[in-house]
This record gives sequence, C-alpha cells and structure tokens, in this order.
Amino acid sequence: MSALREGGCACGAIRYRLESDPLFVHCCHCLNCQRQTGSAFVINLLIEAERVKVVTGAPLPVEVPRDDGSTQRIFRCPTCQVAIFSEYGRPELRYVRAGTLDQPSTITPDVHIFTKSKLNWITIPDSTPAFEVYYDMNALWPAANLERLNAILAPTASSPPRRT
Ligand SMILES: [Zn+2]
Ligand SMILES: [Zn+2]
Repeated sequence: MSALREGGCACGAIRYRLESDPLFVHCCHCLNCQRQTGSAFVINLLIEAERVKVVTGAPLPVEVPRDDGSTQRIFRCPTCQVAIFSEYGRPELRYVRAGTLDQPSTITPDVHIFTKSKLNWITIPDSTPAFEVYYDMNALWPAANLERLNAILAPTASSPPRRT
C-alpha cells in the first residue's frame, strides 16, 4: 500500500521505521499535549509497539505528569531529548509523534480529539471527525484495524495463566 515510514530525532542518535501503516492517527488538542509540545496540538500515530522498529539508539522513557494526576511515559532521544513516541498505560501500543517522521506530510489526522481546548484560530476540516473529548473507537476505526488492536491487547491462547 504505502511505503514504510521512517523517522528520528534531531541529532540522529535515534532512528526508527514503522513496519506498517498506523492503526489510526489522532490530532489531540488537550492541554497536556499543548504543554508537552509547546504548540497547539500533537499528531500521534497509534501503532503496535512491535511494528515500531528502532533501528538506531535506545529511546529513553521519561515519566511525565498529566493534569489528571496520572503520568504518561514519553520516550526521548537520550542525547537531544526530542520526544519520539509515548505510551499511555499500554506498552503494546505506541503513540508515535508524526513530526519526527522524515516526511510528516504523508500523515493526515483520522480524528481530532479534545477540541474543547482547541485554540480558537484553528479550523478543523469538515471532512474529519472531531470530538470535544474522546470518541467511540468501534464506530470510527476500520474493522481490520480494530482486529489488529484486539490482537495485541487480548490475551492469547498461548499466554500463561494469570496468577492471583
Ligand atoms: Zn537525538
Ligand atoms: Zn492530548
């Protein structure tokens, strides 16, 4: 379908490749994302962690406080500190920052979220779904991508039984 996407940090110590198209692309206008980026929003590519192949270097996880009292793990280049991707409680799922791609222009958001804190000079195209807070993934994601997500989140038959 589309060519494999590659990206990296500013100094070149981190290089990564996405081994498929993302599951879904979020443009998030929440205040956490505004603060973390120093900008109006973040563009996150949601993709299976196993499909984010780090080719060079080792991104450094940093626990970052969020307004709701939780923390979010942001993986940064240990040298230049550029944020490459995030994790929100689910290590199987990465949120790759589109601006670190070599060609960010190949990415268009599938959905805009947290528009309740969107800066008012930003106009969202009518053709893209937008939500004041969050949305129903089952309603918006293509069925094949929901299957991909379930495949990494659901326990598999081969996983060992849970100990209580
Ligand atoms: Zn770097
Ligand atoms: Zn956000």
